[in-house]
Amino acid sequence: MEQLSSPKKIKETLEQFGLSPLKKLGQNFLKDANITRRIAEAAVLPGEDVLEIGPGLGALTDVLAERAGRVVAVEIDSGMTRALSHTLAHRNNVTVLHADILKTDIKKVAEEYFSGSFAVAGNLPYYITSKCLFAVLESGAPVTRFTAMVQKEVAERLAAKAGDKDYGALKASIAYYGAVQKILNVPAGCFLPEPDVDSAVIQFTPSKTMDVERKIYARTVKALFAMRRKTVQNNLKAMLGAEEASAALELAGIDPKARAETLSPEIIARLADIIAQS
Ligand code: SAM
Repeated sequence: MEQLSSPKKIKETLEQFGLSPLKKLGQNFLKDANITRRIAEAAVLPGEDVLEIGPGLGALTDVLAERAGRVVAVEIDSGMTRALSHTLAHRNNVTVLHADILKTDIKKVAEEYFSGSFAVAGNLPYYITSKCLFAVLESGAPVTRFTAMVQKEVAERLAAKAGDKDYGALKASIAYYGAVQKILNVPAGCFLPEPDVDSAVIQFTPSKTMDVERKIYARTVKALFAMRRKTVQNNLKAMLGAEEASAALELAGIDPKARAETLSPEIIARLADIIAQS
């Protein structure tokens, strides 16, 4: 059976179904079988169920299906879903849903198709990367890990630690839900058509690490990182007023002249907890 990630097969399938890659939907197809296999191996344990976001022509879906229990793949483009019913016809453990992942009730889909916890994987459309990450993590569904291809620059931001040059509001926000690591760099040449930027695969492992309520944590992150060049005291003032901001920072043991980029998610959680109780 020919690899769905071979450039020849991608071109043939597009032609057969009268399709052209749509830039507005981030349609850059993986054309490297080795990378595709490595993503599948990192994404799913043998026999585990998996939700795939954006299957496209099925390159990753096919190798996921070889390894996984059940695969449910959510694809927004009806041209792709037509092609998928042909390219994945040999797989009896794949269900393709024609839907926008951002308008999909992920928990409900999981309850309908999976028997318990499941993995999430996807070569994500770049224009909705963060929204996809948060949609999955906030769904309340029992996700074991989320393996995603993202822009390299976003991967650096997600993998950064407090004090690193790439650390900022995105990482501080997502850290509420667990840990992120970068798994693999993927050069632009591994896709057809070739995107303008390089990519990387990250893996998010959910864990309940913070006791503070999500809303107040998110508000605190937003306030602290509002203006990059300002001190935490100045940024927090807008949320709490000057006096309360000083008092909360003192109680949390944070230097008011510090910059938000130096505060770890755990310290931010401590501050958010103090704010919640004041
Ligand atoms: N998985 C395939 C691969 O690796 O070759 C295709 C990846 S391509 C980068 C992203 C895919 O996500 C496209 O097929 C695109 O149509 C689909 N997509 C874009 N926006 C979507 C959305 N909101 N919901 C579901 N799928 C979406």
